[in-house]
Parts: sequence; structure tokens; C-alpha cells
Amino acid sequence: MTILPIAFAALTVAFPREGADLGSVRKCYVIGAVDGGETNVTVNGKAAYVYRTGAWAAMVDVAEGTNEIRAVAGTNTAIRTFLSLPPPERKGPPPEYPKLPYALDDAQEPPTNRAPGEITVYVDAGHGGHDTGAISPHGWFEKDANLLVAKATATALSALGYNAVLTRESDFFIPLEDRPKAAHESRAAAFVSIHHNAPGHSQDAVKSRYVSVYAWNAIGEALASSVSARLEKAADGEPPGKGVLHANFKVTRSPQVPSCLVEVDFVTSPAGEEAIWNPLRIARTGKAIAAGIDDWCRGRNLEKVK
Ligand SMILES: [Zn+2]
Repeated sequence: MTILPIAFAALTVAFPREGADLGSVRKCYVIGAVDGGETNVTVNGKAAYVYRTGAWAAMVDVAEGTNEIRAVAGTNTAIRTFLSLPPPERKGPPPEYPKLPYALDDAQEPPTNRAPGEITVYVDAGHGGHDTGAISPHGWFEKDANLLVAKATATALSALGYNAVLTRESDFFIPLEDRPKAAHESRAAAFVSIHHNAPGHSQDAVKSRYVSVYAWNAIGEALASSVSARLEKAADGEPPGKGVLHANFKVTRSPQVPSCLVEVDFVTSPAGEEAIWNPLRIARTGKAIAAGIDDWCRGRNLEKVK
């Protein structure tokens, strides 16, 4: 793992807009947050993608002929060869997934009647490989922080007797669509994606800091509220909790496998950046997420556990 520190400076600018022709040499700057994702652009007359990492203040340089994006600040340069990748294959509408026994009409409830050993839970470490996720002020990658918490969660789930499966155990890229697909195919009872946050355009880049859990449908929301309750109790205000929020993400919209997405903290706030490598915090967070999943699987909520 190579991590190059990037000292960020205040720069005025604009991220390349969707469909922009960047010509042969073009410098693009980002200030404040950019949402994660990708932007279709043209470089040297060829279609290319700029992967938006969620960095809250980075300068991006698409250099002539190199197919590289450089994050530059002062004398520090971090080169990420995002554009040398072929464009991701465009897929059609989402595939029809097989209906699971506990899905939709007959399975809005958690698998309360099954022993933990019979319950498979997918733990997804968000991002990976060329997709770094958010970047902290000192150039740490969200993808690495996610993997640590995902592993801690899987360990804690295993200790509770569950069959925990990680979507990735090291640093590689998995297309978003393939992450819940694996959970569907293995008939998992739940899918929990682990992320660390970065502020949106309208949020304060330094002060924004909270723990949140995202869900989209009713079955996901029940899972999310159990996970959120445990996480907020474990965090004890550091960071404060925002409860369950709604988001139609590729990893939360599944109607068949109850799914949620955890944003453990903000890597962009100074305290949040410091906390992402704290082994005690990582273990505590993993245990809290696992306990929340366990509460949900057993049909209990935290209020009754206390
Ligand atoms: Zn993320």
C-alpha cells in the first residue's frame, strides 16, 4: 500500500462537467467536496472517465498523453492512473435476481427462527483498487479504512456464530453491481456495506462529522436501525449519530437481501481522520455493527436489550 501525503491548499475551481472535452492538456481543480462517482469526459479525443473520489480539496491534472490524474498541492504530487483504465462496461438494466425465501412478500421479517450458524451475512468493504473512495486531508484512502472496519465486523460476527463473508479481503476493485449480487447468489440474510464519509457540496469540509446508516426499503431500514442504535451507543457522541437516512444506492436498494450502508465517520474532519487508524475504535465499531446485525437477526431492538 503506497500512500502519498497530499497537503491541500485552497484553490478556486471546477471539476470537469459530465461530457466535457478536456482537450489534450487541461488542469481541473476541486475545492470542497465532490460526490463519489465518475464523470465522462474526453481527453485527447478519446472517451475517458474521471473518478470522483470525494476528496474535499484536491487539484486534479489530466496530463497530455499520460492518461493520468494527478492530485497536486504545493510540491506534493500523487499520481493515480485512473484514466488508463478502459471505460467500465456499460450494463443494461439490473439483472433479475432469484427471489429468496425471506424476501419481499414472505420475508419482511429478520431470520429470527434460524441459528446464527445458518445465517450468512455479507460484509462489504466499500471501494477498493483504483476506486479510493474519499481521501483524507493527509491523503489517506477511505477504501483502506473501510477494509479495516469490515474485517473487524466479520470477526465480531464470526465470534457470535454467524457465517460472515467479506466481499473483498484485500485492496481490489469490485464493480458496485457485483457486490450485492454475490450476496443474492449465496442467499445471504443481510448485506452491510462499510464506508467512511466526506462532506457534500453544501457541508462544512472540516466540521462535518457524524455516524449514519443508509437504507432504502423497509427491510433494509429495520436492519439499519438496529445497526445504527448499536453504532451510536458505541460511538457515544464521537462522532454524534444521525440515525437512519434514506439512500437509493446500488448496495442498499435490494428488495431481496436486507441491506444497509454504514458511514462510520468523516475522514475529512481532523478528529475523524485521526480515528480511522485507531485499532480500539476499529474493533469497537466492528463489534457494534455485528451486535446491531445480531439484534436484527434475533428480532430484538436495543431498547429491549438494555
Ligand atoms: Zn465510500
